[in-house]
Amino acid sequence: MPKMRFQALAESRKRKPTPISETGKRSELFAKNVFDEEKMLQFLTREAFDNVKSAIFQGSKIDRKIADQVAEGMKAWALSMGATHYTHWFQPLTGATAEKHDAFFDILSDGRAMEKFGGAQLVQQEPDASSFPSGGIRNTFEARGYTAWDPTSPAFIYKTTLCIPTIFVAYTGEALDNKAPLLRALNAVDQAATDVAQYFDKNVRKVHATLGWEQEYFLVDKALAKSRFDLTTTGRTLVGSFSAKGQQLDDHYFGVIPPRVLSFMSDLEKECTKLGIPVKTRHNEVAPNQFELAPVFEEANLSVDHNLLLMDVMEEIADRHQFSVLFHEKPFAGINGSGKHNNWSLATDTGVNLLSPGTTPMKNLQFLAFFVNTIKAVDTYEELLRSSIASASNDHRLGANEAPPPIISIFIGKQLNNVLDELEGVSKGKLSPEEKTELKLNVVGKIPEILLDNTDRNRTSPFAFTGNKFEMRGVGSKMNCAKPMTILNTIVAKQLTDFKKEVDALIDKKKLKKDEAVFNVLREYIKTSKRIRFEGDGYGMEWQEEARRRKLSINKNTPEALQVLTNKESIDLFKEMGVMSEVELKAHQEVELGAYIFHIQIEGRVLGEMVYNHIIPAALQYQNMLLTNINGLKEVYGAAHKKVADPQLTILEQIAEHVLQLKKLTDEMTDARQRANGMSNSNKKAQAYCNNVKPFFESIREHSDALEKLIADELWPFTKYREMLFSK
Ligand code: ADP
Ligand code: MG
Repeated sequence: MPKMRFQALAESRKRKPTPISETGKRSELFAKNVFDEEKMLQFLTREAFDNVKSAIFQGSKIDRKIADQVAEGMKAWALSMGATHYTHWFQPLTGATAEKHDAFFDILSDGRAMEKFGGAQLVQQEPDASSFPSGGIRNTFEARGYTAWDPTSPAFIYKTTLCIPTIFVAYTGEALDNKAPLLRALNAVDQAATDVAQYFDKNVRKVHATLGWEQEYFLVDKALAKSRFDLTTTGRTLVGSFSAKGQQLDDHYFGVIPPRVLSFMSDLEKECTKLGIPVKTRHNEVAPNQFELAPVFEEANLSVDHNLLLMDVMEEIADRHQFSVLFHEKPFAGINGSGKHNNWSLATDTGVNLLSPGTTPMKNLQFLAFFVNTIKAVDTYEELLRSSIASASNDHRLGANEAPPPIISIFIGKQLNNVLDELEGVSKGKLSPEEKTELKLNVVGKIPEILLDNTDRNRTSPFAFTGNKFEMRGVGSKMNCAKPMTILNTIVAKQLTDFKKEVDALIDKKKLKKDEAVFNVLREYIKTSKRIRFEGDGYGMEWQEEARRRKLSINKNTPEALQVLTNKESIDLFKEMGVMSEVELKAHQEVELGAYIFHIQIEGRVLGEMVYNHIIPAALQYQNMLLTNINGLKEVYGAAHKKVADPQLTILEQIAEHVLQLKKLTDEMTDARQRANGMSNSNKKAQAYCNNVKPFFESIREHSDALEKLIADELWPFTKYREMLFSK
């Protein structure tokens, strides 16, 4: 009998929810473990405080003397909170976070012990990071990497460690992480958007991108999850027959949260609250055992950090509640996968959401300028945006028949479509006073503050305007949001920069008034970016054909989607915006391709082991049971046994056929893998893995799932879908 499975099942049946202990108001707990303004005021000198603030808002440098003061204050606070260690917390290109803890404790030269932490340790560290992926940067430049303090994301204490958010760069300046390019992109969009916002309000000094992610995930009983080594090594189940009950009944979505899960969520939220992660909503998702958690949105860099921190914290708290949390985009075939919608907007330091329709025509013209420029940016760089959400695991959503599709398009709703259609008819050059009045009163002035069809109408669009923000829905549930946020903010920065140039040229050379110039440029953008607007359902062949006609890119898998990163237009764009150099782009692409290859390679190996060492043996065992039975019948019935043993004989043959196919396909897959491994060019290798190795996974699975349905339950080696997905 398969021990693992049945032990796990017995264990999981004994679980009881831990009682929920709420400890008063969440607001009193909020950011208790964060070195935020309140603590800075308490623990820093005025000079140090002002310097940190100006580093946050103006990006100014912090000199060594001030860094020493900040470190002193941080240390005092951390020790008062019971911290014993500190770490530079960073985001290497693996997509996860990394940390190396050092104790505050030190021995002085005279042998006395004390707690030490100075400006030098705060500002810069050199992790022994030679085994993080660098896409060849470190080899090329023979440079080591170091981490450097990012004062825009506050330090926090997790467990007993003071964590200092940092970027990770080579000594030659190249980014070795996801955060450094993000910060550069946010800086670029700040400059470009501030310039444009000043057309409408001279007081605007800074614009920051905002991000509110919605994290989807699965919870599976820990013992059950651990009993499946495909799940623990690859993040998803490589075989498994659909459960008789899936999500057909829609009875889980927004249903009552099971008590064990609620208890987990409550603990998780408390921990998040202390860490300053403003979690707000929680609910069941569409698939069984699938849930979602969303915070209040924040400035994008902080929000990215908070999402990464959240994922770490979730794993820890889930473990405490005897759950495994699954972030993989498609842990189970046949039911919904998980995503991480990225809600994005731009906000000024004067408190205005630039993508929120306002109450006056002027406010709405500002809204339209940012709205249309975003559409135009996405239209021009749709393929780049697609590349930012490409990964082996996310291919199961984007490339398959699931929403959203791999083709980037924008949903804006009927009301805004009407507005854009009207604006398309604006006259060229100077506008007559009548036309201006008409536009302001009846077009721009009529945009309602609340756009009714933008909330829930279209759930399949990959890039939807949802009332006062855009929602990017293709982001994978386990991805670092820094990647899509870097690309989105870079392309919007570029677009706004071009817009400003064009508007200024009309004002200077054609002597147009500012609003006339804005209308004129927007009209052209609306005309030229029409192909990206699509209100329909993103599934199916019809839209694919239509998209092809519109010359939108259709990249169904990661190796294809990553190509665009290093073409000339992309290199020029990232260089112009100061976000990434050619070397960095090539390195990032190389790392992504490498990750793809490893991912599929590991899946292939695990699947091979499952087939040879578990599935075939189980099938043979059942065959033996049948044979014993058939032989017994033969003894009793003689030649007439064929009639009574007919069902057994049929099953026997079916098993033989599946075993034959399993062996054949697995051997072929192994050969294909070995051929791919022989390739040295990572592009070709990734394509070989994608086109020659991966297709075997599906066909192998078909035979395994058929066997699962065929053979005795007590012999099946892997915990079944119905056991994993419906345990409470
Ligand atoms: P759903 O998409 O599931 O219907 P919501 O519309 O409530 O849920 O989405 C809310 C998400 O959008 C939250 O994470 C919220 O913080 C975020 N959000 C709201 N306004 C903004 C904004 N201006 N910028 C960025 N994110 C925002
Ligand atoms: Mg959403």
